Amino acid sequence: MNGFMKRSMAVGVAVALVFASATTVLAQESATVDTDVHDSGHSVVTTSVPLASVVHDSATVTTGAGADIPANSSFDFLFFSGDNCGVNDGAQIGVTENVAVSGTSPQTRESSDTAALHAGDYSFKVYFNSGDETLVEDGEAVCEPVTVDKADPDVTTTIRDTADDSAVGANVPLGSDLYDEATVTGIETSGFEPTGDVTFTFYGDNTAGNSNTGDCTDATTDNLGGDVTLDGTSDPSTVDSANSTGALHAGDFAFDAFYEGDDDYNSATSPCEPVIVDPADTTTVTEVHNEAHDAITVLDLFGGDVHDEATVDTDGYDGFDLGPDLNDTNVVVTFTIYDNWTCDGNVVGSAEDVGISGTPPQVVESSDTTLSPGFYCYQAVYEGNTDYNTSTGDPEPFTVIPTITRGSCSFDLYPEEDGQQFRLIFTPIPTTLLYRLAASNPG
Ligand SMILES: [Zn+2]
Ligand SMILES: [Zn+2]
Repeated sequence: MNGFMKRSMAVGVAVALVFASATTVLAQESATVDTDVHDSGHSVVTTSVPLASVVHDSATVTTGAGADIPANSSFDFLFFSGDNCGVNDGAQIGVTENVAVSGTSPQTRESSDTAALHAGDYSFKVYFNSGDETLVEDGEAVCEPVTVDKADPDVTTTIRDTADDSAVGANVPLGSDLYDEATVTGIETSGFEPTGDVTFTFYGDNTAGNSNTGDCTDATTDNLGGDVTLDGTSDPSTVDSANSTGALHAGDFAFDAFYEGDDDYNSATSPCEPVIVDPADTTTVTEVHNEAHDAITVLDLFGGDVHDEATVDTDGYDGFDLGPDLNDTNVVVTFTIYDNWTCDGNVVGSAEDVGISGTPPQVVESSDTTLSPGFYCYQAVYEGNTDYNTSTGDPEPFTVIPTITRGSCSFDLYPEEDGQQFRLIFTPIPTTLLYRLAASNPG
């Protein structure tokens, strides 16, 4: 039987059995072929090998009755895609490798290494071609499947600020506009660069007063603009989300990135990456006003009532509302009058809350108040909301001076002599604080 016919008959197992039984009649010695798939370190592969592994086959022929292996014998090593040596599916990869074998039984020979293998099922088939079939029959090994596993990629994310593309820390300022960057790292072997899509997810409700958890369990938005495809040219491979979040209210937010995988890589999701948007600090600057809204530090009761004016502003992001949010439906500036100049005395009357809303800066005023003569201090406190921190104005000392309606003046005129000094004596009734004595020279 020539080589061509042998190969044709060996394609299927059933045909090979017929061939074997037929040769038994000829009283040749048998040829048993055992094979092992080896990795590049010559370790036997039992089930599967990692992505990009290089393998080869090892074949051992053992003759019946210890007969010598005839001269001019050889192994044919065939390598297939698919797990059944080209039966049903798959096809031979490369060409058949013929390796000479001879000498005393048993003898082992190996095929060359394969190329680095992509994930999937493969199989080896080995034929023993006897150099003299009158002495030893041909033989073949069973088909040997080997599986190359997909690799698990590493997916990490970096949250960046659109302002300068810098990677952000755990906390960012109010109004930050963020995007996410995903890095997919495969086995870092040329020809095995990850391909496929990355899906970015942004977690959290971007509203004032949100109660987000920041642990990738909150509601998601599609703000980031959908899937982004790796270009498949590098490993690690980095892609940015198509869009950014827009200005963020204070709260806990989170990002993650899902890599869908490809023929060589399993899908993977990055760790959840939280970020906290901090509220902005505010300033409250105040002025005590008279009824005409003139700033005063001293008020004669002729001047009427007083009130306070507070300007609430921020040095941070000023695009959000200083006023009510989901957490607090009535955000106020509280105006308090104290009965001394340092705003740590007794509260005069009761503090007044004035609602505030709108973006910084905002100006609000207390109601006009009539005060009896004395030393006072106005102080205003902006209570803050989830986006803006509370702030307290500086103490504003001021004085209310009475109009003198009763009292008497006298001079100690005696003795009347040239060059004598005299005193002007004022006796107020009632004897309350801080009377103002005005004098004029009638000429
Ligand atoms: Zn080996
Ligand atoms: Zn005013």
